[in-house]
Parts: sequence; C-alpha cells; structure tokens
Amino acid sequence: MKPMYRSRSWRRKYVRTPGGRTVIHFERKKPKAAHCAICGKPLNGVPRGRPSELRKLPKTKKRPERPMPNLCPTCMRRVIKAQVRAAL
Ligand SMILES: [Zn+2]
Repeated sequence: MKPMYRSRSWRRKYVRTPGGRTVIHFERKKPKAAHCAICGKPLNGVPRGRPSELRKLPKTKKRPERPMPNLCPTCMRRVIKAQVRAAL
C-alpha cells in the first residue's frame, strides 16, 4: 500500500476481481449531504458526491425541480406564503 493510502481520508472499497482475488480500490470519501439554507435539515433529492461524479448526472437528478431548491419543502412553503402575504 502506498503511504498516501494509509490515511483514512481515502475510502477503501473491497472489489472481487473476475479471477477471484479481492483487491482494495481507494476512493475519495463523499462530501456531506446538502442542507437547507434556513433550518439546516438535510435535503432530499440532492445527491452526494464529488463534483467530477455529479457532472455525469443529468441536471434533473441534481436538485428538486421546484422553486428554491436550496431550501427544504417546509421552509420553501413558509417563504412563499410570506412573499404572497407581503404582496397583498
Ligand atoms: Zn428548512
């Protein structure tokens, strides 16, 4: 094992090869899940991954297709209601 891979900042993935050997593949860890900008709850429908992996996904799989994808549904509803009531 290369010295750099002894660090636990690399994730170890045990892969069974077609020949029956088990080899270790080293991968970078995934970042934390995206969180709501107001309440800090983790967001559903937003994938975790390094940018190079997320680039391979279609845009519709990277965030919810509704207004304010950086907020959780509860906070989005609260903000929209506040905007509508302020407009009256
Ligand atoms: Zn929220």
